[in-house]
Amino acid sequence: MKNIAILSMMYTGILIITSLSSLQAQNTNNMEPTMPENNIFPKDQRGSADYFTGTVWVTPLLDKDSVNNFSIGNVEFETGARANWHTHPRGQVLIVTDGQGFYQEKEKPAQVIKKGDVINIPPNVEHWHGASANSSLVHIAITNFENNEYVTWLAPVTDLEFNEANQTK
Ligand code: MN
Repeated sequence: MKNIAILSMMYTGILIITSLSSLQAQNTNNMEPTMPENNIFPKDQRGSADYFTGTVWVTPLLDKDSVNNFSIGNVEFETGARANWHTHPRGQVLIVTDGQGFYQEKEKPAQVIKKGDVINIPPNVEHWHGASANSSLVHIAITNFENNEYVTWLAPVTDLEFNEANQTK
């Protein structure tokens, strides 16, 4: 009888420990920010808080010149970070090189974007791009110019808008 009681206590203990460690594993998956580990380009400058929410790293790769009417930059969004809503007068192409996040046009559902995706953004369409709530995102941005203009910055993506995007499967 005594042995059964001890065995039963041990069994309960094992159950509790197992449940706790599986909870911990879940938390690690959901909560811990993921950082890009195999960066192609070095981090250069912090994206301005005037145009970005969260931690964003911008590395200019190529300036517009007399031949190329566009600039190229690498943008790294840490987990939860995103650009403000904005437009490009002559459009923009994104090439996702790491992680997963979102591209959303105003009044449309957000789209999941991930490593290997190429996004062709039309001129003058209000949109944002950035990381997701549990993954970082790295993309190359090729941005066309109209005279000396390439972007018009608008309002930040609110937490409500960002959370809604994160419901996208
Ligand atoms: Mn853009």
